[in-house]
Amino acid sequence: MNKTIDILGEEKLFDCMGCDIGSHKMTPPGGLIYEDDLYTVSQDPEIPIVGLMILGIKRHIKSINELSRDERMNLMDILNLTIENLKKIGLCSEVLLLEEERSSHFHMWILPILPWMDKFDKNARNIDDIINYTYEIYNDEVKEELLNTIDKLKEEFKK
Ligand SMILES: [Zn+2]
Repeated sequence: MNKTIDILGEEKLFDCMGCDIGSHKMTPPGGLIYEDDLYTVSQDPEIPIVGLMILGIKRHIKSINELSRDERMNLMDILNLTIENLKKIGLCSEVLLLEEERSSHFHMWILPILPWMDKFDKNARNIDDIINYTYEIYNDEVKEELLNTIDKLKEEFKK
């Protein structure tokens, strides 16, 4: 069993975070934003960036190479929809996509490029600095904005 304190300060136990979110054993901060038979979209539980989305597959696979053709097509549709919705709610006009095959459960990070990231040149090379800075500026105000953003995204996905 693994343990983490999520960005809302709640202690969460999990075996595989991807599987546990997909099977509703673990609730991501603010709850699931989108769900279908194959995928979920939710706020990253551990990095408090407003609108930082995790697009996760429910099935336990490690690599994009293990996706069936159907899963690949659906992945692209949901990825597209998530990015569209981040833009529609006015959070960002650009995103940065990340996927790490070293992770044990396939998921994609969709990072909205936010105004404060200007000081890091909005560059993927500076992702460590961006994430570290996120913890420095995280406070109740950011938490509220983060939760509001989750609600707005849930509404947008329903349209
Ligand atoms: Zn898993």
